[in-house]
Amino acid sequence: MLDKIVIANRGEIALRIQRACRELGIKTVAVHSTADSKLKHVLLADESVCIGPPESTKSYLNIPSIISAAEVTDAMAIHPGYGFLAENGDFAEQVEESGYVFIGPKAETIKIMGNKLNAKEAVKEVGIKCIPGSDDALTDDMDYNYKLADEIGYPVLIKAAAGGGGKGMKVAHTKANLQHAIDITKAESKAAFGDDTIFLEKLLEHPRHIEFQVIADNFGNVVCLGDRDCSMQRGHQKVVEEAPAPGIPQEKREEMIDKCISFCQHIGYQNAGTLEFLYQDGEFYFIEMNTRLQVEHPVTELITGIDIVKEQIKIANNLPLSVKQEDVLIKGHAIECRINAEDSKTFIPSPGKVTLWHTPGGPGVRVDSHIYTGYEVPPYYDSMIAKVITHANTRQSAITRMGIALSEMVIEGIKTNKDLQIQIMEDSAFKRGGMDIHYLEKKLKL
Ligand code: ADP
Repeated sequence: MLDKIVIANRGEIALRIQRACRELGIKTVAVHSTADSKLKHVLLADESVCIGPPESTKSYLNIPSIISAAEVTDAMAIHPGYGFLAENGDFAEQVEESGYVFIGPKAETIKIMGNKLNAKEAVKEVGIKCIPGSDDALTDDMDYNYKLADEIGYPVLIKAAAGGGGKGMKVAHTKANLQHAIDITKAESKAAFGDDTIFLEKLLEHPRHIEFQVIADNFGNVVCLGDRDCSMQRGHQKVVEEAPAPGIPQEKREEMIDKCISFCQHIGYQNAGTLEFLYQDGEFYFIEMNTRLQVEHPVTELITGIDIVKEQIKIANNLPLSVKQEDVLIKGHAIECRINAEDSKTFIPSPGKVTLWHTPGGPGVRVDSHIYTGYEVPPYYDSMIAKVITHANTRQSAITRMGIALSEMVIEGIKTNKDLQIQIMEDSAFKRGGMDIHYLEKKLKL
């Protein structure tokens, strides 16, 4: 049994992983930057190691420092969480080569799926549909690029193959914009991901973002834990997530579950992962696969009763999945609101000291957060400070529960998007369900 795990992350997800380890009787090592010595999971950890200065490139992205932390604490495995090094195939490889277990898929799988073009190619092999677009990377041959965009039809989206976190995407509405969109995406992608491979995709005008959660063990067993709707987005970033996705015909859902399972079996996928799709006019189009735990995993945990983080650790420990597909029963509806330390109008991050924090509670309310009264939100990292998740028998009751939970929640000292989340919960179109990925931005402009 893995008896000690290094948590190579920070914030709420580090605490979430620590809690799962505790339930499994596993000791935890918290690695942190100098700015993060007062993080809740660091204070609670069995051991902690400072891995560098505040800048993430020198701490949470510093591979040698993280591996050294495993060495000095005599840990056996590393959980990467999400973000930072979670989808870095080289990191997974170095962890394994140094003799530790990487809690995630094989490095090779991460590398293939980390390139959106390769991922699209791979899913097509099991009959999953992709958004029409270029099969290969775009070159400097603009005659060819114009021809391709004409064939696919404007508007088109230029995307970075290595893209993530909503970065590296530019729309070209007409031929006149194409060259510019290509140049900008290339430059952005090079700067953000060190890779300027780009491709072209049809821009779907009113899709929903729907994704399927999978877990797979090292013995070829794959289970799909259903879908989530993450269409409430701002700047291609998710703001509210829910499960199951409202209004999807059961037959279509089952067809997609079967396809996701076949795909994972086909590539020998291991550990937890998510296949992301855009859903428009009754059809699912694959966009990418995230080879890691996702921020929104709690909504799936609440409707299935399955602890995804514990499953990840058990899989890494070479144990078979604790559930079979027929055991997965979807119960009720769950919603997650991301609470960010930011101005709710300008969305500018609002770091600083939390002078008062009261968490909401009651039946069906879960709060995943690392903050506490007196905690200082540092300016260096992602602004998400909490996730409020509600679960109820129906979607309507989950929304009502969320409204009450948010109204009970008190965060003073910093600005947050709590009021925006309350407005979304009261919005009549959101209450109806099934809004597309542009809905929230349109509502914000009103
Ligand atoms: P990232 O890896 O940065 O998260 P994704 O490929 O998952 O990028 O896309 C993120 C979001 O961008 C999607 O949820 C959707 O809102 C939007 N998007 C991506 N591809 C398209 C497309 N072809 N048409 C319309 N919207 C898209």
